Amino acid sequence: MFNKLVVRREEGSSEVYAKLMTLFAEMSARELSVPVEKMFLIEEKEIEIPSFAPVFESVKCAECGENVMKLKAVEKNSQHYCIPCAKEAFYELNGSGILERK
Ligand SMILES: [Zn+2]
Repeated sequence: MFNKLVVRREEGSSEVYAKLMTLFAEMSARELSVPVEKMFLIEEKEIEIPSFAPVFESVKCAECGENVMKLKAVEKNSQHYCIPCAKEAFYELNGSGILERK
């Protein structure tokens, strides 16, 4: 049932969907009943706080006017463009994984 409806995204009857949702609810309730000490490894740790994220220069896209991080901008004929305006390929992370988009 899981492979059919979730993995392969095939159609199922409303009764089958309801049964799957009931199973998911039961699984969630079971997880909530697990003592926190069994669910997680809890330890005290010394950590080093990372510094702030670096701030990079922005440039204005010559086409749409949006500010773009200069490192991510595409330079053509001495002008900067955002990726969509430059019609460059980019990577997108979605439910299917990392896909190259244009
Ligand atoms: Zn643009």
